[in-house]
Amino acid sequence: MKEEIPRGDVNRREFLVRAGGLCVALGMGTLPLGCAQSPPPPAVAFSPLPYKDDALEPYISSRTMSFHYGKHHKGYVDKTIELIKGTPLAGLSFQEILKQTANLPEKTAVFNNAAQSWNHDFFWKSLRKGGGGKPEGDLQTLVDKSFGSFANFRKEFFNTALTQFGSGWAWLVLDGDRLKVVQTANADNPLTKGQTPLLTIDVWEHAYYLDYQNRRGDYVNALLDHLINWQFAAENLSRA
Ligand code: MN
Repeated sequence: MKEEIPRGDVNRREFLVRAGGLCVALGMGTLPLGCAQSPPPPAVAFSPLPYKDDALEPYISSRTMSFHYGKHHKGYVDKTIELIKGTPLAGLSFQEILKQTANLPEKTAVFNNAAQSWNHDFFWKSLRKGGGGKPEGDLQTLVDKSFGSFANFRKEFFNTALTQFGSGWAWLVLDGDRLKVVQTANADNPLTKGQTPLLTIDVWEHAYYLDYQNRRGDYVNALLDHLINWQFAAENLSRA
């Protein structure tokens, strides 16, 4: 007969694993799972969406989200975890992994998966329900200084997203003391060129095909007008 583990013990073990070394300080070191042996939380993980999967409707459907977040994004995270297991990259963050493996032909697979994991986390935060509009404050000033006007920025960002040939990303980045709009192919990320990403739009077909089919321009316009999260961009600027 199988011995049943009382539910309370399972919860306590999960708590201890999550709490890591903290439980020692709390005087809980005598519980069955020794605190000193608890593994630290993983540095790379499949992050929760910052909103419900239908929050961005009608511009991004929950059906798109279920595939894009639930399958594509999750797939990149799972693959990264598999590829770094038992290597010197285990324990590093997605950002550290993508920086360390950029431009190394023998590390292409791990770079692609770690960078796509980072890019998707960043993309979800680049959007919000009730977004769109224009930046304010310091970011507005910098947009005007860098592009001449918000209208110029918008036109350049739209064209950049539209003309990325094949899969990739359109980004607003800080490069030195100015903003730039750049495009990257496949998994590439401006961090590897010393630029600081402020916002991104995913222009892989998996990002828009269910909702917009081949009409990438309609998708990009919808995101710029209704979902772009300027508060997130302003936070990234203030941290740079
Ligand atoms: Mn994607």
